[in-house]
Order: sequence, then structure tokens, then C-alpha cells
Amino acid sequence: MSDAAARFAEIAGDAHVLTGAAVPEDYAHDEALPAVPCRPAFLARPGNAREVAELLRTAGEFGIPVTARGSGTGLSGAARPREDGLVISFERMNAVLEIDTVNHVAVVQPGVTLAELDERAAAAGLRYPVHPGELSASLGGNVGTNAGGMRAVKYGVTRHNVVGLQAVLPTGEIIRTGGRTSKVSTGYDLTQLIIGSEGTLALATEVIVRLHPRLPHDATVLAPFADVEAVLTAVPDILSGGLEPHILEYLDAQTLTAISEHEKLSLGVPESVRASAQAYLLVALENRDRDRLRADVDELGVLLDRLGASDVYVLEGGAARRLVRARENSFWTAKAVGADDVIDVVVPRAAMPEFLRRARETARSRGAAVAGCGHVGDGNVHLGVFCPDPRERKELLTEVFSLGMELGGAISGEHGLGRTKSEYFRALEDPVKIALMRRIKDGFDPAGILNPGVLFPDPGRADDHPAP
Ligand SMILES: Cc1cc2nc3c(=O)[nH]c(=O)nc-3n(C[C@H](O)[C@H](O)[C@H](O)COP(=O)(O)OP(=O)(O)OC[C@H]3O[C@@H](n4cnc5c(N)ncnc54)[C@H](O)[C@@H]3O)c2cc1C
Repeated sequence: MSDAAARFAEIAGDAHVLTGAAVPEDYAHDEALPAVPCRPAFLARPGNAREVAELLRTAGEFGIPVTARGSGTGLSGAARPREDGLVISFERMNAVLEIDTVNHVAVVQPGVTLAELDERAAAAGLRYPVHPGELSASLGGNVGTNAGGMRAVKYGVTRHNVVGLQAVLPTGEIIRTGGRTSKVSTGYDLTQLIIGSEGTLALATEVIVRLHPRLPHDATVLAPFADVEAVLTAVPDILSGGLEPHILEYLDAQTLTAISEHEKLSLGVPESVRASAQAYLLVALENRDRDRLRADVDELGVLLDRLGASDVYVLEGGAARRLVRARENSFWTAKAVGADDVIDVVVPRAAMPEFLRRARETARSRGAAVAGCGHVGDGNVHLGVFCPDPRERKELLTEVFSLGMELGGAISGEHGLGRTKSEYFRALEDPVKIALMRRIKDGFDPAGILNPGVLFPDPGRADDHPAP
């Protein structure tokens, strides 16, 4: 056993440190389609913040790069470690420490999954509303990526729902940021800096999240449209109507067909309507009162009809849940039908029609294709990219990301940059901003041990996915 491995085992315990070939293959990757797996030299599963601090201090001493890992469901390659690196997995730090029904917060360890937190919050009639499609994802991972998901249109993303952290700096110091208060105005907001930093600044060892009332009644409406642009232009009217949907999703016809087949869904949409539909809106409403919900659904139906929907289907119970689940699982469908990448460009809502039209044309002109769905209320388009040649794909992605940025958006709305999109970010983003981010990174992590290769280049190493 190497000196470093022996020290890691002293800190976390022999049973919780693995090295070399003993590290299971699962820790070599997340779910990003184009990321190349890489088994780390060391895996440690600490049991508390003090052990995390000692592991980081020791890794710093040996110059060993460290990658934090939650559940490994990320879609950007941010949890893919380096072959000489240490993975700190939070799977043993998986306790819901408190459901605080006075301050309406939950205090959780980073390894708690969304499904586990939901169960505990439900018992108190509350809900943590951030709902990325994969409920086995961990709260620590959600902090790492600033996860979003379908309910962001009403409740916001991780950034809007995490009010405090305990975090360990790569130098081994433990800090607390924010707290249970609903506001704070004392200096820089370190909670917000750490959220979305993809394990490059500090590791969260405790997360305080807001809880919201759990509304008991909901209804799901599916509306086919014969014209893609009409779907997208309907969105502002739906949002300004005051119905406050908690899900507002767009699926192109190709994607709805693919997920219906993949998940064996029957939605009751007649063949004649399906044949002419180019895209669908999926809208879900919730309410504390059943009659008010019914009235809202009726109003939504009238509105969708006026906005050009070919028809309106109110899906009940099981059918609604299966469709929402299928939409959440659309990544697996994209993977199953051979997508080479899945991207999540975000643009201002008003720019969505132009973004989608030009992204499709760009792909077509290169003999490739893009198809997908998205959190249309947030302007966040998830596109499966079908372009097997890596060089051609890099050129296509550069064009599509540039287009998103030209329209006032960003390369990623919620998946992050990880190892698969960081090079594009550095090529396309304002160099002044990148230099400022670099100085922030150096302030947190002077030795550069946290997730090298994510956001910033890994010194002396080629990028996994160099932009053309
Ligand atoms: C089917 C499917 C659907 C999905 N749908 C959505 C969606 O709708 N919206 C969405 O936003 N995402 C979605 N995702 C992506 C994924 O679920 C999220 O990115 C999630 O936040 C990752 O959580 P994780 O625990 O798996 O993190 P990991 O993949 O393990 O790690 C993600 C990042 O967080 C860092 N990290 C992990 N733990 C910590 C910690 N304690 N402190 C600091 N950094 C840490 C890692 O180093 C890495 O950079 C989906 C994924 C799948 C497979």
C-alpha cells in the first residue's frame, strides 16, 4: 500500500478506502455520453466532515487531485476522476439530520438522495421542490451542478433553494455559509459561489434547503401543436396568465414518439392528431383545493385552444405520472436510440424559436440531427445530438453553443460544464470573466487539487474534449 493510501485508510478506516483495481468501475464515470471513463487510484468513503477535511489536507500534501462524487448521475463528466486521483464519495454521509417545520428547512448530509429527502419531507406535509429527472441524484451533487429540473419554472433551481452549507475547503478548513435565515447581507455570498462550482472550490458536507408546502392535488395536460413555433410562442401567455404551472415542458414529435415507444406509453392521442403534430406542450398544475384545480385546468384548456393547440388531453393519475416519468427519463431514451451527446443550452425564452430553428438547420447542413425536449418555461433546451464523427460533432457543438450565447444564453442551463463542455466554455466565454473565475479558484484552492480539468485546464494534460 502506498504512503498516501495508508494515510487515507488511517483517516476514513480500512474498510472505507479502496485502491487500484479494487475500485469498482462505477466510480470511473458519471452518465455523460461522451466522457471517457477513468478509474481513480484511490476511493475514500468518509463518514463525517472532519474525515473529509483530513482527506483533503492529506491529498494536498501528496499533490493528489480530488474528485467529489455524489450518485454519479451527472451529465457533464464532472464526477469523472483522474487516474492518479482520489474520489471522495459521500455515500456514507447520507442522513437527513433535521426537518425543521418552523423555519421550513431541511438539514441534510450531502449523500442523501432526492428520493430519500422527498420521503422525509412528505411525512411533514412539505416538499423540497428541486426535481431533476434522476431522483437517485444526491443533494451534494445537486449543489455541485446547480441542478434544475422540471419544477424550476415555479420553484427555481438548486441555487434558489439552498440557504446554507457546511463546506470543507481544499486546504482542510471547515466553514459554514448562510444558515436557516431567509435573508442575509453580510459580505460575499459564499453559498452561491460554491453552488454550481462542480467540485472545484469546496466540498459540501451539510446542506440546508428550503422546504415548501406539499400541495395535494395536481393535474397534467398534454397539448399537441401542428407548428413548433406556436408551441414556443404560447409559453409567455401561459406564464403571464397566472396559472403558475409547476411543470411546463416542450417535446418535439420525434421525442414524444421515441419516449412513448421506449416506455410503452399509451397517451390516448388519436393517430390523426399525432400525424399532424410537430410538437407537444406538457403542462402540470397543482393546488391545495380540488375544485380550484379543476377550474384552473378548464381555463388552461381554453387558453391552449386559443393559442393554437390541435387538441387538449387531461391525463389522469397513472397516465400523467407515467408521461412525466418518461419525460424525466428522456435521457435514457436518447441514449438508447444512439444519441452521441445530450446538450442543455439555455436561452432567453423569447429566443427559443430562433435557437431551435437555427440549431436544427446547422445540424442538417452538417448531415447531423438534433432532436429533443426541454424546460420550455426556463428557455432550457435539451437536445440529443446525432453526429457520430467526433471532429464534426465538435464543430457542430461549437456552432450551436455560439448561437445560444449570441442569443443571450449560455452553454448549459443545469448540467454544468464538467469535462465534456469546459473547453467550449473557455473558447467562447469572455476572457476577462474566465480570468476572474481563475482568481476565485486560486483563492479557494491554491494547490489546484479540486477536480483539475473541470472548468480550467489540467496543467500539463490534454483536454478530454478539446474544442476545434
Ligand atoms: C435520467 C437523468 C435525468 C436527469 N435530469 C436532470 C434534470 O432534469 N435537471 C438537472 O439539472 N440534471 C439532470 N440530470 C443530471 C444529474 O442528475 C444532476 O446533475 C445531479 O445534480 C447530479 O447529482 P449526483 O449526486 O449524481 O452528482 P455527481 O454526478 O456524483 O456529481 C456532480 C458534480 O457535483 C460534484 N459534487 C458531488 N458531491 C459534491 C459535494 N458534496 N460537494 C461539492 N461538489 C460535489 C461532483 O464533483 C461533480 O462535479 C439527469 C440525469 C439523468 C441520468
